Amino acid sequence: MEYDGHFRQAQRSKYDCLLFDLDDTLYPLNSGLATECRKNIEDYMVLKLGIERSKIFEMGNLLYKNYGTTMAGLRAIGYDFDYDDYHSFVHGRLPYERLKPDPVLKNLLLSLPLRKVIFTNGDRVHATKVLSRLGLEDCFEGIICFESLNPKDKNNVSSDDLDAVFGASVQTTTTSPELFDIIGHFDQPNAGSQKLPKTPVLCKPSEDAMEEALRIAKVDPQRTMFFDDSVRNIQSGKRVGLHTVLVGTSQRTKGADFALESIHNIREALPELWEVEEKSEVRYSSKIAIETSVTA
Ligand SMILES: [Mg+2]
Repeated sequence: MEYDGHFRQAQRSKYDCLLFDLDDTLYPLNSGLATECRKNIEDYMVLKLGIERSKIFEMGNLLYKNYGTTMAGLRAIGYDFDYDDYHSFVHGRLPYERLKPDPVLKNLLLSLPLRKVIFTNGDRVHATKVLSRLGLEDCFEGIICFESLNPKDKNNVSSDDLDAVFGASVQTTTTSPELFDIIGHFDQPNAGSQKLPKTPVLCKPSEDAMEEALRIAKVDPQRTMFFDDSVRNIQSGKRVGLHTVLVGTSQRTKGADFALESIHNIREALPELWEVEEKSEVRYSSKIAIETSVTA
């Protein structure tokens, strides 16, 4: 043990930064927000984009599966709409009151001697509201969100721009002749071999989105741990070189270095994340002595 203590102190900490997904990662799935969010997306597709209710379920699944988010898929197949309008409709009516302050998680996060950054596909207003409800707003150095990956001046065509190009009558589009029939596409026997239209939206799990987040956060993936409840996001994170933690299940799947039933298990499952602190506090004593000095 004594030797082990010396050895650990001689190492540089393995990590610099922790990258956390937000929804269903920092609060549990049983809050029901995800279900409400899905309902709102379906309503948006019917009420704002004029898509038939009977097609929503299948179309939503295909878009989510192939494009990362339903929104990214809707843009890919030809629907034009304002991103802010979409987000305020889909997130604006969520029952945020179901999220309660989580002082246990707050203390865990604040005790971690590493950089901590949020990386979510959600928009900034949503991320801020969720963190505030959970009482975690002071636990992170920054938030990488939809707007970070999709800055308006670069990828988004605002309604003003549309007016300028096409005339003031153009609003949200539901009648574009260019719409791609994604349900019909996947009904074909050879659908897998044909290319789908590209989306202008950058989001997880695309590797480009992962790389962009790493660039924005200025982190080396080899020295960063990524927490997410989505298996495909975790697998994409692994492909860009991140250390990965699947949250919400204790079953590790391919691409996940670790799996946590709940983010609250982080300390028991990943004690090495706290080792920077140990290294700076103790030079020549064993781990038992470290714990004593911390408690004292
Ligand atoms: Mg999530």
